[in-house]
Amino acid sequence: MAAVVAALHAARITQGEEVARFEQAVADYVGAAHAVACNSATSGLWLAYRALGLVAGSWLWTSPNTFVATAAMALQCGARVRFIDTDPASGNLSLEALQAALEQAERDGTLPRIVVPVHFAGRPCDMAAIGRLAERYGFDVVEDAAHALGARAAGEPVGSCRYSAVTVFSFHPVKAITTGEGGMALTQRADLAERMVRLRSHGVVRQPAQQQALGGWHYTVEEAGFNFRLTDFQAALGRAQLARLDGFIERRRVLAERYRKRLADLPLQLPHREDDASCAWHLYVVQFADSAIRRQVYERLIEAGIGAQLHYVPLYRQPLFVGAEQPEDFPGCEQYYNRALTMPLYPQLSEQEQDRVVTLLAAQVKSICDATSQGGSMPEQGIV
Ligand SMILES: *Cc1c(COP(=O)(O)O)cnc(C)c1O
Repeated sequence: MAAVVAALHAARITQGEEVARFEQAVADYVGAAHAVACNSATSGLWLAYRALGLVAGSWLWTSPNTFVATAAMALQCGARVRFIDTDPASGNLSLEALQAALEQAERDGTLPRIVVPVHFAGRPCDMAAIGRLAERYGFDVVEDAAHALGARAAGEPVGSCRYSAVTVFSFHPVKAITTGEGGMALTQRADLAERMVRLRSHGVVRQPAQQQALGGWHYTVEEAGFNFRLTDFQAALGRAQLARLDGFIERRRVLAERYRKRLADLPLQLPHREDDASCAWHLYVVQFADSAIRRQVYERLIEAGIGAQLHYVPLYRQPLFVGAEQPEDFPGCEQYYNRALTMPLYPQLSEQEQDRVVTLLAAQVKSICDATSQGGSMPEQGIV
């Protein structure tokens, strides 16, 4: 709070020094060489796609289990979008589906320019494997890490860009840290950072030599950009939030572990455990035996004032993307979409509130099981 007020009293409330400080702080946190702050992750994705040369006619591939911006920003570049099926347990891109699609696309001459893994729910994708495919098939990787600030992949912080060209974070209030609205693109490549900075500010370039020759007011514009800048008072908030990030994630981890213990006896599929330490726990998603049960539980939780959610309606089901691809082409994502429900999980959630969620969820699941037990019981799934 005090940092934001101080930033509001500074000589510049936008295009001042706070943005660069926040960029440096995030770059240091994740171990990336360059950071470009922007006014949302959506604009960050657009900057990354454009900086990598995604143009009309080229292909961008991504997960259908994501927020619409991941794919919509490719359409804004004039590119074509193809969705790759996801793993039914994690909701992340299926490596087998990606590999198969690449083999086919190589034969057809339709290989992607960019592939965008989404670290769904804060659980990192297998970036080393995706990096190997990127080398083999010659595409660039952009990580949509809107859920995954503070997560670790292959022992490194998400955002280090070890296996990707650019990683994009979101600072929307539901994400790990917030600036109100805001986002950031991280990269190890100076050329990409330079182009993203240019596109963030109308494509304007100021060259000292030219200014000396033609006048200090001179600048040139060679390509159309936007105004995607973050303000300095937002950046001040972001830097204060970043200092608290590890604490926020630890709290999310504690709450996720409480869910795991308290839901263990219900006929639910809970998130994987093995790599829990690498997960940023953006979402806690449970899966039911079928969509009818999920719907009933959802309705009753909402009636009780509990903010259950569904992430996400698969993008191939959205009118914007309906095309050659049918839901049947995505068995993994369909299975996930039919069964999943997101439980409340955020650092301010108290243990009493969480216990109330658990009690209500358990009661609903039990009453539905009892009601359906005449016609056959729910399959016991436990933790996979
Ligand atoms: C939130 C989110 C975005 C968009 O972030 P904004 O900062 O709101 O633009 C993009 N992708 C995913 C996966 C998200 O969850």
